[in-house]
Amino acid sequence: MLAHNGVLFLDELSEFARQALEALRQPLEDGRVAIVRANHSAVYPSRFMLVAATNPCPCGYAGDWERCRCSETELMKHRRRLSGPLLDRIDLLVKLENEGAAGLGAEPLCSSAKAREQVMLARERQEARLHDEGVTVNAQMDVRMLQHHARLDPQAEELLSKSQQRGLLSARGQHRVLRVARTIADLNGSERVRARDIGSALAMRSNTEQAGSRAA
Ligand SMILES: [Zn+2]
Repeated sequence: MLAHNGVLFLDELSEFARQALEALRQPLEDGRVAIVRANHSAVYPSRFMLVAATNPCPCGYAGDWERCRCSETELMKHRRRLSGPLLDRIDLLVKLENEGAAGLGAEPLCSSAKAREQVMLARERQEARLHDEGVTVNAQMDVRMLQHHARLDPQAEELLSKSQQRGLLSARGQHRVLRVARTIADLNGSERVRARDIGSALAMRSNTEQAGSRAA
């Protein structure tokens, strides 16, 4: 509730109690939260951007065979905590590699100023397109708006339906991929959503199955 229209950052996501994580599902899906007590209940607006960070395993070195000291049981427990419905509601999953000291000193691929300019332009495009819908950004589009505003070219359509046929996407997942792909197209200044936009959106979901796994 306190993060309404803001950013909610949760560090060490896997350390949160399962119940607390599950409670995030409703606001992430509906943009509101219902508080139910014995004698009364209330619904509050709760639309926020969730940003979360977590280690790949309890010791932090999963994937590095020599350093990870976690047992299979610990890895499985870690993976279970983060799998399923909550991850399905997180649009972008990015695995960060250990870059070492050299990586820290390297030039960024894109400056913050340039990225900011690109984001502002993309948001302007979204606002103009969604003006008559009463929302301002792609994240707020419901299914009807998505069908209307995220028009796919034939290759993009094919890629999305193949992913669905292979069981990689739930219906909710498909809508989320469409919203992200619409945003990627906006960042590239394209009115049409192309196959490569869908591909990029899919790639940022595919880590879901691997989170916390030894093979990750
Ligand atoms: Zn470990």
